[in-house]
Amino acid sequence: MTTTRFDAIIIGSGVIGCATAHELARRGWKTLNVDKASTAGAGSTINSCAIVRFSYSTTEGVTLAWEGAQYWNDWENYIRADDELGLIEYHQCGQLLIRTDDDRHVERVATLWADIGIPFETWSVDDVKTRLPILDTGLFGPPKRPDDKHFWDDPHGSITGAYFSAEAGYVSDPQLSCHNLQRGAEANGAEFWFDAEVVSVNRENDRVSGVTLNDGRSVESPVVINVAGPHSYIINQIAGVYNSMNIKTKALRHEVHHVPAPEGFDFMNKGVVAADNDSGIYFRPEVGNHILIGSGDPDCDPREFVDPDNYDTSLSQSQWEAQVLRANRRIPSLGVPHQKKGIVDLYDVSDDWLPIYDRTDLDGFYVAIGTSGNQYKNAGVAGHMMAELVIAVEAGHDHDHDPLVVTGAYTGCDLNIGFFSRNREINPDSSMTVHG
Ligand SMILES: Cc1cc2nc3c(=O)[nH]c(=O)nc-3n(C[C@H](O)[C@H](O)[C@H](O)COP(=O)(O)OP(=O)(O)OC[C@H]3O[C@@H](n4cnc5c(N)ncnc54)[C@H](O)[C@@H]3O)c2cc1C
Repeated sequence: MTTTRFDAIIIGSGVIGCATAHELARRGWKTLNVDKASTAGAGSTINSCAIVRFSYSTTEGVTLAWEGAQYWNDWENYIRADDELGLIEYHQCGQLLIRTDDDRHVERVATLWADIGIPFETWSVDDVKTRLPILDTGLFGPPKRPDDKHFWDDPHGSITGAYFSAEAGYVSDPQLSCHNLQRGAEANGAEFWFDAEVVSVNRENDRVSGVTLNDGRSVESPVVINVAGPHSYIINQIAGVYNSMNIKTKALRHEVHHVPAPEGFDFMNKGVVAADNDSGIYFRPEVGNHILIGSGDPDCDPREFVDPDNYDTSLSQSQWEAQVLRANRRIPSLGVPHQKKGIVDLYDVSDDWLPIYDRTDLDGFYVAIGTSGNQYKNAGVAGHMMAELVIAVEAGHDHDHDPLVVTGAYTGCDLNIGFFSRNREINPDSSMTVHG
């Protein structure tokens, strides 16, 4: 059995784990990422829609996303290393938030954007029709399943317009963003071990002392960070901290469907990211003039919490019909392809759909988990917060009693890491959906 020592071990090489490595390594820490997969970004990140938007329910959520977006705009300078696979592209196509009379979440978002100073436009129904003529501006909600007898009812009114944030968009290749971050971290001495599953989180004198891998190797470190995505709760159980946290995480199965854009409409260049709570979906352009359709977690859809090592990875007919037919109500010229196409993957959902960026009751053991289907966009700023948190706490800062506030590297905003505490009460302002 070999023993090796690092300043910090990061469990997971998804986008948040790689960003945490990049941030710690550039601060001079000798880090090791261990991942049971064979490459970076092969966990839930690979199937992320990678949408970058600022439409969250809380001041802290919006501030974090606005700060997080700046990293994508500055990617080459941020990575500061060569990657033989090339760098990701950020497609800044803007986000449309469809407005209806009774959607309080959307109005709250617009108020937060105005307060924080995030630029946005208010579109009338006519503006929506002019800018996106493929959209039907009818009112169909609340969202229904296709077997509901009212699913195909005529619209019972009109949407009231939309908010448009031009700075929003999406990243073309989420797995490549992990590789970029890996190369950036390696340029500062970080190591990445793949096909390396953590089976034990070790302790010595009441603090973490490292991990043991499935091949028997043990690695020593005074700091271990759980960034295991949908497996986060398993790692917390292995580390013996699961019961000490007020907010828990679990794995939620989700499907995203891919369909060709309506014939004759260049959705790749004229399309936008759209959040449509009236239909219960979100969508964005995808390469090949496709549209990628996700679920906004409407109340009528079942929530399938699963064992992350044993769940159905095939697309289900009923969810395919639910999402694609909902999209057809909003985009009537879309149609339904004969062949189902899309992906099935897992969100690491916290009890209130807000992430947990925190230390734990086990000294030296940290968590960046509960990303709830909505933290890809925040990888850079999450890595920044985790690095600052680890360094401050290891230097003696009492984060539990005096929550650390760090400065956003791009916008200069205050980021109160205490907001993302493991021991918070469930946040009543959360949408309790992927919208965060
Ligand atoms: C379908 C889908 C769509 C999404 N769309 C968006 C979006 O549009 N915008 C957005 O901002 N966010 C989105 N998200 C969320 C976002 O993708 C995630 O929050 C983010 O990718 C999580 O990254 P991570 O590094 O925390 O986890 P992961 O990418 O899941 O990485 C965790 C890693 O830990 C490894 N691991 C697990 N257990 C062990 C172990 N015992 N030992 C070693 N390694 C282990 C896994 O192999 C994995 O590589 C979406 C998520 C999904 C699933």
